[in-house]
Amino acid sequence: MKFCSECATPVVLMIPADDTRERHVCPNCGTIHYQNPKMVIGSIPAWEVDGEVQVLLCKRAIEPRYGYWTLPAGFMENNETTSQAAQRETEEEAGANIALHELFSILNVPHVHQVHLFYRATLLDLDYKAGTESLEVALFKEKDIPWEDIAFPTVSHTLRYFFEDLKQVQKGGHYQLHAHDIFKPMRPNDKN
Ligand code: ZN
Repeated sequence: MKFCSECATPVVLMIPADDTRERHVCPNCGTIHYQNPKMVIGSIPAWEVDGEVQVLLCKRAIEPRYGYWTLPAGFMENNETTSQAAQRETEEEAGANIALHELFSILNVPHVHQVHLFYRATLLDLDYKAGTESLEVALFKEKDIPWEDIAFPTVSHTLRYFFEDLKQVQKGGHYQLHAHDIFKPMRPNDKN
């Protein structure tokens, strides 16, 4: 950030008294502009045909990762709950009518300052259609998931957990809540 959102004075980076981290501080009005992780929230819309579960994926019409596949998800808005965000994003991106179930995965992505949450969901009908942020929306069986073309690691992790749990559920087991941390992948020139 460059300017104070309260008084438009250029901000400075400094460690405020009683703090341990650098913050953007306004030297004019004294406002400390805290920056905290954002929540990205989505669902895993499932549809069962002849005992085989399919999952609804969206092909992204926006950057980052244009043209790659994702579960419907997006940034949580103020004044909504996490489950409302999951429902809203699924409607906006996939035009899908769902019944939302319990929270299924929580993934920390500290290097991009995000926390991703995915809820399990059941599609109520097949009247889905691509929203403005999707090129295409389609159902995939596990064997047809385009693993090489999944937009984000949080989505591929969630899909893998989902299909693993599904096999347990079909044997009388239960879905679990999965928590996982994703750290920045090492690039060839990175030092250990
Ligand atoms: Zn200010």
